[in-house]
Amino acid sequence: VTATPLGPGPEFDRIRAIAAVLGSRATGLGDDCAIVRVGTKTLALSTDASVEGVHFRREWLSLEEVGWRATAGCLSDLAAAGALPIGVLVALTMPAADPPAAFASVMDGVGRVVTSVGGTVLGGDLTKGDVRSITVTGIGRVESVIGRQGARPGDELWVTGELGGARAAWMAMQAGREPDTAARARFALPVPRVAAGRRLVEGGARAMIDLSDGLAGDARHLAAASRVMLRIDLAQLPCHPAARVEAETQGEPAEVFAAKGGEDYELLVVMPPGATGNVGIAWSRIGQVESGEGVVLELAGRAVALEGYDHFA
Ligand SMILES: [Mg+2]
Repeated sequence: VTATPLGPGPEFDRIRAIAAVLGSRATGLGDDCAIVRVGTKTLALSTDASVEGVHFRREWLSLEEVGWRATAGCLSDLAAAGALPIGVLVALTMPAADPPAAFASVMDGVGRVVTSVGGTVLGGDLTKGDVRSITVTGIGRVESVIGRQGARPGDELWVTGELGGARAAWMAMQAGREPDTAARARFALPVPRVAAGRRLVEGGARAMIDLSDGLAGDARHLAAASRVMLRIDLAQLPCHPAARVEAETQGEPAEVFAAKGGEDYELLVVMPPGATGNVGIAWSRIGQVESGEGVVLELAGRAVALEGYDHFA
């Protein structure tokens, strides 16, 4: 497995530093999943940490939702690899004062989302700590390997579902307002697009990434990995209805609001030219692949500058 070319940003600077010190002691860093061949089978592996005060606030989420959300983020990486989940391992840190029922509640959320995509909880580890954190390692099986590399000039860029719902809920909660019910569900109980990911691979997808840090940033990662330029027409972006309402509150075009939103966990997918849209999933064509580098976002013929979320920016 060759190393994936990395995009710009402070988080990727840290990955670059790690890759430099590890050298040949690391393989295949920089994609949504590690791809490991075991005999005739191929596994996709991913790990994802969720930390209280960084990824979630207890006053916004129940413990079940904390477990679901952390696990959905990890399963979303498996979805972007077109993997069929086998299960998850969970490392859970909670205050010693939290009763057994609190641990059980978090794991109830984990169990509900992992079984929804056909996997199970395979094991884990418990530690005490002042800050709650949940680290989920997902294990899946793939038949053909797909990642962030593979987009070619002339290909088409598509996105599943609707964007901006999670951000709409986040903005409302941040401002102390009651979030829209559907938007809150997008935030608290995101659905990993496992079935869509598998169908898209069968449908001939060339490259995929899940939208965890916002369209602008994640598209940039895919462009860097594939060594291409992505041109996105924001007017084509499928916006969640709550994103339209919240965008108006913020005085921002809905498409820009939706493009800024992280944690939608939809899939950004590159298809060969002429994909009909008939793959049996809700998706929208939002742009094209060109030669060059980086991402160009346009709205009504004008370039729009947007950054994705970076954990270290
Ligand atoms: Mg990802």
